[in-house]
Amino acid sequence: MSGKTMDSCVFCKIVKGELKSQKVYEDENVIAFLDINPIHKGHTLVISKKHYDNIYEIPEEELEKLIVVVKKVAIAIKKLGADGVNIVQNNDEAAGQRVFHIHFHVVPRYHGDKIKI
Ligand code: 5GP
Ligand code: ZN
Repeated sequence: MSGKTMDSCVFCKIVKGELKSQKVYEDENVIAFLDINPIHKGHTLVISKKHYDNIYEIPEEELEKLIVVVKKVAIAIKKLGADGVNIVQNNDEAAGQRVFHIHFHVVPRYHGDKIKI
């Protein structure tokens, strides 16, 4: 399933405003919002407004729009005081994907925080 929105998908519900989120960025194609279960304060998810299950499905031109916003969010997190930033994108259950609507995690990191990603 790809390219529109899916009724059963939590991130599509966030896109449609049916589920609340703390949005930090929005444009025509992309939104970024805070993860409900953050690794650190500021852990942000960047998603395409259209539904694609994973990186295999998303067209390259949509992926480009997504990664440009990932970069903006990473810079903002760094400016807000993080010592570093992890960018993570999981595909398939075996790789830890739980929500099957493509997303990038942008995770603030701090010296000595001992988090394994
Ligand atoms: P995945 O394991 O699929 O890469 O990551 C999914 C992420 O989505 C998890 O970090 C989880 O905390 C987050 N998440 C799941 N449901 C919701 C939700 O309803 N709202 C928000 N803001 N984040 C969610
Ligand atoms: Zn979706």
